[in-house]
Amino acid sequence: MTPFQARRKNNKTVQKKITIIGAGITGLSAAYLAAKDGWEVTALEAGAQPGGLTGTFRIGGNRLEHYYHHFFTNDAELLWLLGELGIAGRMEFKKTTMGIFRNNKVFDFNTPWDLLRFTPMGIVDKARFMLSSLYLGKLAKWEKWESVAAMDWFYRYAGKSATDSIWRPLLEIKFGPHANKIPAAWMVGRLKQRMNSRKGTDERLGYIKGSLQTLTDALKKRLTELGVKILLNARIEKLLIKGNTLSGVDTAKGMFNKGLFLSTIPATHLVPLLRDGAARYAEELSMIEYSGAVCAVLEIDRPFSHIYWLNIADPGFPFGGVIEHTNFISPDEYNGSHILYLSRYFAMSDHLASASKSEIIHEMIKPLNRINPQFNRSWIKNVYVFRTNTAATVCGLNFSNIVPDCKTPVENLYAVNMSHIYPDERSCNNAIRIAAQACNKIGINSSMVPFRSSLSGRIGMD
Ligand SMILES: Cc1cc2nc3c(=O)[nH]c(=O)nc-3n(C[C@H](O)[C@H](O)[C@H](O)COP(=O)(O)OP(=O)(O)OC[C@H]3O[C@@H](n4cnc5c(N)ncnc54)[C@H](O)[C@@H]3O)c2cc1C
Repeated sequence: MTPFQARRKNNKTVQKKITIIGAGITGLSAAYLAAKDGWEVTALEAGAQPGGLTGTFRIGGNRLEHYYHHFFTNDAELLWLLGELGIAGRMEFKKTTMGIFRNNKVFDFNTPWDLLRFTPMGIVDKARFMLSSLYLGKLAKWEKWESVAAMDWFYRYAGKSATDSIWRPLLEIKFGPHANKIPAAWMVGRLKQRMNSRKGTDERLGYIKGSLQTLTDALKKRLTELGVKILLNARIEKLLIKGNTLSGVDTAKGMFNKGLFLSTIPATHLVPLLRDGAARYAEELSMIEYSGAVCAVLEIDRPFSHIYWLNIADPGFPFGGVIEHTNFISPDEYNGSHILYLSRYFAMSDHLASASKSEIIHEMIKPLNRINPQFNRSWIKNVYVFRTNTAATVCGLNFSNIVPDCKTPVENLYAVNMSHIYPDERSCNNAIRIAAQACNKIGINSSMVPFRSSLSGRIGMD
């Protein structure tokens, strides 16, 4: 083998050339690993900027994520990447506060004392809530609970009042009409992620100073130094598949036909591109559904509450969470402005998928008074709305059966997407993990990426 050849898992040798489709955090991380391993890399991105869901905008003299982001102390892959890029010092972990809005009242929900004061739950259900959460987060094996709906599991083990006031709203906020079919296995992933990052009841969440733009800029710079070509506004319009082999991709920026291809775009975006040349695979991939998310970001002139993360557990709200970013990161970073995300996940059949931005703003702002009766529209300096149709995969019962193999049936094409993160919760950390796993599968050395508590990247990567 020459230095520019790599051995693939099937023992064939290939030229070390790869075209990466999509430059979100998964695509950028894969590009970094491949370039570091001496591959010639081209990354093709449909958008005008790299970063995908980690995109940011300007507000209060600083940059902020379109969609709220925070990180966990056990996000080993993300911390590794920040270290590689020389920006580890930009991550800061801070204590945050959580609350639940239930029965028209805001309850703090951070300590065992808060749980005792949480009147929507009786004392027996409080004990059941604690024990069942501990079981899922610390002891349970996700494989055991793949065919059991989380909602049924919670009604059975956590009790009615805990499920009605905490778990049902959480699942409904996140999965809308699909909430009843989410497996308890997904809750295992979600709770493990949260509990493993805690010391006792002390939870510290991380934020990257200057927003995720700091990471995207550092990655872009390093990739350029390593010779990676990142082409923006280069949406893949056609996959050139002949006789089951992918030989190139057509984009607005021309045709690219170098080496192997790694798709990191959402499955729903890949499906239409495959219909002509690989109809059967397209059909399989189309089983992976996504939920969308909308965030109305309010820039206001004073605090709305004292809580960073407020789950809305009362019915009748158009948002499921109020995330007061400036109760986490000081308003001084935003020229004194206070920042509130009103967030909601939606199914494609939901009116939010097509509602205009002004409709969304109108709908979201109206009920804020129910939470803080003092709130007045005159507090608002600016409102921004961001929406995506591919916020998260909807993982139904026995989801592992439909997670596709990263090596696709199309020769030369590998594909990795959020479904490979299951049963863990999708996150930047886990995006780096699945990028590392996909690289490994292709024959790109990714052994230096730490693989600690993440449950992702284990299915479809053998
Ligand atoms: C509301 C919300 C809150 C979140 N909160 C957190 C959090 O607190 N912490 C955390 O760690 N993570 C969080 N995440 C998750 C995190 O942002 C994602 O897991 C991660 O950014 C996914 O990266 P990705 O590269 O896999 O996908 P994407 O970011 O979707 O990237 C895919 C890229 O492919 C491009 N593309 C699509 N089609 C084509 C095409 N045909 N040709 C070329 N390019 C194409 C897209 O433009 C995009 O840039 C959140 C996400 C959302 C939506």
